Amino acid sequence: MAQLMNFAPVVLKNLFSKPVTKNYPAEPAVYPARSRGHIEIDLDTCIMCGLCMRSCPSGSIKVDRPNATWTINRFDCVQCGYCATVCPKKSLTMNPGYQEPGEEKFEASYTKPAEEK
Ligand code: SF4
Ligand code: SF4
Repeated sequence: MAQLMNFAPVVLKNLFSKPVTKNYPAEPAVYPARSRGHIEIDLDTCIMCGLCMRSCPSGSIKVDRPNATWTINRFDCVQCGYCATVCPKKSLTMNPGYQEPGEEKFEASYTKPAEEK
């Protein structure tokens, strides 16, 4: 009984305090100012040179030059930002936010419109 009395204040405090976690993704996350975020590509300036693919330490990027398609596996990306550093056209940027959680892993592919290839 004495032990029960020891942790009763903790139980009561937790019962009536706000949760320390957010109901994400229903409630949008607020990212700290220096969070690295995710890679985004500007297809208009990308020349499909493949330097980002060859430089990525986790092999997350695929560049298919004949089909003008740039693909990233965001689940493998470690957000190091190196691809954005090496891109000669500055087509890659790190922006706040991350891939939403889901039941399946998938790659994100971006293809230049036919007239721009
Ligand atoms: S390094 Fe830059 S220009 Fe080259 S394929 Fe990657 S995103 Fe495109
Ligand atoms: S941020 Fe790093 S790990 Fe992610 S795609 Fe770019 S080079 Fe690869």
